[in-house]
Amino acid sequence: MSSGLKIGDLLFPDRCTFCGRVTAGSGVDAVCASCLSRLPLRFKSSWLPWELLGIRRPSNLMSFVLCPLLYTDEVRSSLLALKFSGRRHVAHALASLLALSIKKELGCLPRAVLPVPLHEARLRERGFNQAEQIAARIGCVLGIPCHTEVLVRVRKTVRQSETESRAARQRNIAGAFFVDGTGLNKLLQDLDAAAGRQNREYVLLVDDVLTSGATLGEAARVLAGAVSGIQVLAAAAASNALAAKVFTAEGFTLGQAVRPDR
Ligand SMILES: [Zn+2]
Repeated sequence: MSSGLKIGDLLFPDRCTFCGRVTAGSGVDAVCASCLSRLPLRFKSSWLPWELLGIRRPSNLMSFVLCPLLYTDEVRSSLLALKFSGRRHVAHALASLLALSIKKELGCLPRAVLPVPLHEARLRERGFNQAEQIAARIGCVLGIPCHTEVLVRVRKTVRQSETESRAARQRNIAGAFFVDGTGLNKLLQDLDAAAGRQNREYVLLVDDVLTSGATLGEAARVLAGAVSGIQVLAAAAASNALAAKVFTAEGFTLGQAVRPDR
């Protein structure tokens, strides 16, 4: 049989998470070639500066948020399906896309992946943390450990989507995160074990959707006191006025599909 196809591939072919078609040939797990070319990817322009988000950053936090997708079309509906209908296989397809961007955009790979945590009460209500689902699968794709017990959400906040202004979002999220000593020790052990493999040591903090950046900024600020370097990744940027302003500043038209160089 040619091109490395196995019998199992013919009997149980991978289907595209976004359109349901067989994905043969796209090169990305669970995403077909057609969707890969249509999805609102920003592989050529996936950096959002903290400065443009109006957020002051600690010196060991990399100056840009890596944000490869726009929160529109199928990306929006799939993230909603993951979050509210528990369609966890969506996380696999998104992580495949995000891992492509991480490999392409970051000079070296992170040593660990950490999700932005949910508060315990919201975790019980939803049954899982969508950011953790994405982070864990990114870890699997890249062969990097995912640490879910370092950052803890200690204060239940109003949903950021229910707050009206950027200042209100920042007030709402302030003091919501805490670094757990036991979780941090496990992370540091993993980082020590990986020491020497890479020149630049940093961890990747992952969330699903970036709106104002207030939640990610606060989580990163707290984590910055415990690790030597942090890169932040949000799967998708919400297409609100702020994102539009940022993308316009980059010369990027909202909703424009940018096909990745492969
Ligand atoms: Zn498709």
